[in-house]
Amino acid sequence: MGAYRRPMRRVAEGVYAEIYFWGCNPGFVSTGDGVFMIDTPQQPIDAVRWRERLQEHGPLRYLVNTEPHPDHIRGNAYFPGVEVLGQERMVARYADAIPMMTGTTVLDTMKTTDPDSVWLFNHPDYPPNPPTRTFSSSLDVELGNQALHLIHHPGHTPPQTSIYVPSRGVLFTGDNVFYKCKTFVQEADPWEWLAALDAIGALDVETIVPGHGEPCDKRYLSQQAQIIQNWIGVVEDYVRRGLSEDEAVAEPLEVVRNVDPWPIGQRLFPMSDSLNERNIRNVYKHVVARQAVA
Ligand SMILES: [Zn+2]
Repeated sequence: MGAYRRPMRRVAEGVYAEIYFWGCNPGFVSTGDGVFMIDTPQQPIDAVRWRERLQEHGPLRYLVNTEPHPDHIRGNAYFPGVEVLGQERMVARYADAIPMMTGTTVLDTMKTTDPDSVWLFNHPDYPPNPPTRTFSSSLDVELGNQALHLIHHPGHTPPQTSIYVPSRGVLFTGDNVFYKCKTFVQEADPWEWLAALDAIGALDVETIVPGHGEPCDKRYLSQQAQIIQNWIGVVEDYVRRGLSEDEAVAEPLEVVRNVDPWPIGQRLFPMSDSLNERNIRNVYKHVVARQAVA
């Protein structure tokens, strides 16, 4: 029974997030006219429990995904009938992610990593549930006299979206902020990400709910930006020394470990070294492309 009443963090009046699931930090805003959801739990058993907790706050009206990575969207399936919102580039990315989120390989892994979820997985009642209402640069939603602003802040991923709740001074950033856990730069344009952090810093915000890690505030943004700068710096050095992409990946990992001081979050530790390689390969391509233009 204790597992059912999982703790949930109240970050402001009517604004909640869960930071202990395996996967991202899903959140929601409880309004006088139902619930506005931000992202969904990755594990099926967490998603159905989350759904029951949220339904205590009223009907589930909207769901917005901050980004297309499976740990933010796989749980959408367990919220049939909820209107899903997303930046326009989310639609194709959601479709591309479906093979990574379904099928027998994922099921076989789940049998050992999360047996409680198996009976809910690939369940006929829970088909994929992609965004159907899209926007380009921003979308304003009014729910129960609560204004919510969805803002396109490309960085960690191209469709990356922040959700601003001005009356509560809260911003959900998704993975544009990794609070004190390892930053995934595996597909980001690092310069776009720095611009997104500047735009986030310009908002009137008291509390930031990051994609992973504890809620924080704007003071952390400069640390997050420094990690991105460090990635650019170390890869620019490889390029300056004339190393190819493969040679850059083969450089000693101690150098890379100084780039980002934080441990990898939420059960992702088996990916730590492969993530370094993916980060280097991605940043390398962006550094070379930028130098070709300059
Ligand atoms: Zn992500």
